[in-house]
Amino acid sequence: MTFVPTDYLPYDFANRRHIGPSPAEMSQMLSVVGVADLATLIDETIPDAIRQKEPLDFGRPMSERKLLHHMADLAAKNCVLTSLIGQGYHGTVTPPAIQRNIFENPAWYTAYTPYQPEISQGRLEALLNFQTMVSDLTGLEIANASLLDEATACAEAMTMAQRIAKTKAKDRFFVDENCHPQNIAVIKTRAEPLGIDVVVGNPDDLDAETVFGAIFQYPGTYGHLRDFTALIEKLHAAKAIGVISADPLSLTLLKEPGAMGADIAVGSTQRFGVPVGYGGPHAAYMATKKQYARSMPGRIVGVSIDRHGNQVYRLALQTREQHIRREKATSNVCTAQALLAVMAGFYAVFHGPDGLKAIAQRIHRKTVRLADGLRRGGFVVEPETFFDTITVDVGPLQQAVLKSAVDEGINLRRVGKTQIGITLDERTRPETIEAVWRAFGIDGKDEDYTPSYILPDNLIRTSAYLTHPIFHMNRAETEMMRYMRRLADRDLALDRAMIPLGSCTMKLNSAAEMMPVSWEEFSLLHPFAPQDQADGYTEIIDDLSAKLCEITGYDAISMQPNSGAQGEYAGLLSIAGYHRANGDTNRTICLIPMSAHGTNPASAQMVGWTVVPVQSDEAGNIDLDDFRAKAEQHADSLAGCMITYPSTHGVFEETVTEVCDIVHQHGGQVYIDGANMNAMVGLSRPGDLGGDVSHLNLHKTFCIPHGGGGPGMGPIGVKSHLIPHLPGDPNTGEGAVSAAAYGSPSLLPISLAYCLMMGGEGLTQATRVAILNANYIAKRLEGAYDVLYKGPKGRVAHECIIDTRPFADSADVTVEDIAKRLMDCGFHAPTMSWPVAGTLMIEPTELETKAELDRFCDAMLAIREEIADIENGRIDALNNPLKNAPHTMEDLVKEWDRPYSRETGCFPVGAFREDKYWPPVNRVDNVWGDRNLTCTCPPMTDYAEAAE
Ligand SMILES: *Cc1c(COP(=O)(O)O)cnc(C)c1O
Repeated sequence: MTFVPTDYLPYDFANRRHIGPSPAEMSQMLSVVGVADLATLIDETIPDAIRQKEPLDFGRPMSERKLLHHMADLAAKNCVLTSLIGQGYHGTVTPPAIQRNIFENPAWYTAYTPYQPEISQGRLEALLNFQTMVSDLTGLEIANASLLDEATACAEAMTMAQRIAKTKAKDRFFVDENCHPQNIAVIKTRAEPLGIDVVVGNPDDLDAETVFGAIFQYPGTYGHLRDFTALIEKLHAAKAIGVISADPLSLTLLKEPGAMGADIAVGSTQRFGVPVGYGGPHAAYMATKKQYARSMPGRIVGVSIDRHGNQVYRLALQTREQHIRREKATSNVCTAQALLAVMAGFYAVFHGPDGLKAIAQRIHRKTVRLADGLRRGGFVVEPETFFDTITVDVGPLQQAVLKSAVDEGINLRRVGKTQIGITLDERTRPETIEAVWRAFGIDGKDEDYTPSYILPDNLIRTSAYLTHPIFHMNRAETEMMRYMRRLADRDLALDRAMIPLGSCTMKLNSAAEMMPVSWEEFSLLHPFAPQDQADGYTEIIDDLSAKLCEITGYDAISMQPNSGAQGEYAGLLSIAGYHRANGDTNRTICLIPMSAHGTNPASAQMVGWTVVPVQSDEAGNIDLDDFRAKAEQHADSLAGCMITYPSTHGVFEETVTEVCDIVHQHGGQVYIDGANMNAMVGLSRPGDLGGDVSHLNLHKTFCIPHGGGGPGMGPIGVKSHLIPHLPGDPNTGEGAVSAAAYGSPSLLPISLAYCLMMGGEGLTQATRVAILNANYIAKRLEGAYDVLYKGPKGRVAHECIIDTRPFADSADVTVEDIAKRLMDCGFHAPTMSWPVAGTLMIEPTELETKAELDRFCDAMLAIREEIADIENGRIDALNNPLKNAPHTMEDLVKEWDRPYSRETGCFPVGAFREDKYWPPVNRVDNVWGDRNLTCTCPPMTDYAEAAE
């Protein structure tokens, strides 16, 4: 603890922010569950052998006011200089309308991933706008709904190129030496375990016959502009794939990748209104030709129809993803950067094509003036033509110029030993340009604004972009504000109702925790700014790391991974590195239970391992005999295992330490997936159970918002022997997994604030109440539904799985019918059909009050009655409230030809009378959408037709 608060509040009061049930409600709930007190419930739930011995002690919990003062102190330790470092990160102006209505609006940031499209139409439309923008700017037909960052997008493009290339040269990839260093670093990390030989060089030396693909940076990291058309033709002649990593803002002026024949374009949309944030979060993009859609990683939003033939949005081609294809999935990308993609898409809607072009032109003109001034001052400026980036050779003056720039309040980029890179952006002002000149020893006034462009003629963009009416809205802010509100209102986020998603812990992101994210001291720092300007961040990272080590029982934390799945990948790489250091290069077998989350096998595949599935027994536990037999069988080549604790079945398996021992005995390492940490904090530590490495989903357990499918943070904790194998620095080192050293650091104040305001006891209490809430639901639903997996004392952990498979036979009711009916009741469905097909996994978390838990249980019980009505023939098996769910307002006012009342259909138990949430569309037809794939905004005429 670096800080001792003085005005702390009594424990009970301070922690009520995050803990739903009041003390009185808790005792009522305990009596329903049938235990005397919370301590007894925990004793009956978590086996003694795996309990943590010492309580968590982070000192006294901080009050909200104290926390905000503390955060302000930390913020003040960061120095915010004007960054002209560039290298893929740019100053940008977040339009205040977007900052306030999206970035800081819980309707947007507390939403879940849009797996249930009927209650996600708003963010799906916003993401479709993003995809349309990317598709237009890159000149490629189809774009995904974001990737984690530009560097990982480059790595994904490489593996995608390997999948789709028809060449025989499947083990070599060419990388333009003008790519950003962090892109090259992450590509190399990704290539190594897959046996891909990465050749970094001058594109003029590209030997197309020997590679399956090549990636070029556009504009180059030092500012060069080049037409890649001829190179891509060479690649195509050799049946190889051409990838361009492009700055999307430059594409408003420059010939687009599609026009150069590129097969894949990637890049970052950060400069579309998303603050740099010391590295993240922001949305990377990927676009490709339609014929390669099925090989593209990440989520794709597409258009489909609902039951009445109305046009609707939903996630397309989901069969490519890990939930279904596991180790054969197109990638392990699960959580991506939805909220940031929404912001970038709105930036384009807000400015329109003319606005974006004007911003790009202004930046270019400023760069021209800056370069002219430097040339007048006697400096050699490269390249001849550029967009926003120049490189100046200053010989022995490098150190001196960088230092004077810092004295002027500006960070410039160190390039090699004698050069300096400068990249201008939307925030650059005439005073900035003058200050740069002064740093170079030039006195001058930036006052001749005569427009001057020096873009090469052959690279001027000639095609139109952002032609869809959505990018040509009336520019009055009123229109924009109402559009954002309209979309938000279509969605059911945590600001409206419980989202009881098993495994995907959806908990409160408290307002005070969120506030520092917007502060300029956190949002404006460049990831490659000098270390001594980021003392505030260093302190946050150190303090949070220390606390997470304490919570998990590990010895060190790497903050680099940008999602849980990315954490898995980084953790497995650390295991692989450890084996390699021991000379055990043959250890490539990974045991993974069948019940594992799909990202587990997908991540194992990314480090070149072979997945050996392990069975679960009747009770949902790992089948120990099967596990032992497979470990023995593969003893010589065992890399390790990936297990989830408590298991994805929601049970604290007593055998976990034995499982870990077996793996260790056979020379393997244990990866414990930490997604279920919300059931453990303060009570049990993965590091004590025998885990060597785990990821934590900070966007689940530690209060970073889910953002409608991202951002996320998946830091990994490791035991000391794995510390040497943690991810390296993307700018200077090796083994990086993300573009920035600390992933998305601007989110870290949220998790730290949570820990500080809860204190050790508060965090532990949250775990206990999460377990209480789940057991309360299990108890209340008992009898109506079968609860599938329980511990030996009949308790569930922090989530419970209810079985809906019997209703398929008895009433022809599917798990999907129940999920959609819950929408009528005003709920987001629990996790559907995972880890067991035909079941619902319910995780209420500690945040829900008894009233909300009861509303949910009442709704579930009423749904069970509706199923009984079908079973007993009281209502038609095809025309009933379950099959017709969800019901829209349109249903209510149209002719009513149903054997149940409008009241029953639209206002079932649970639904609010006054604050009724109306799903905006009827049930979505997923298959139709995949058969008629459309992944950009459809023409307005289609809207008109659909509305008929
Ligand atoms: C959520 C989850 C993951 C993946 O995390 P992302 O952040 O979505 O990549 C992995 N394993 C389990 C058990 C999870 O619940």
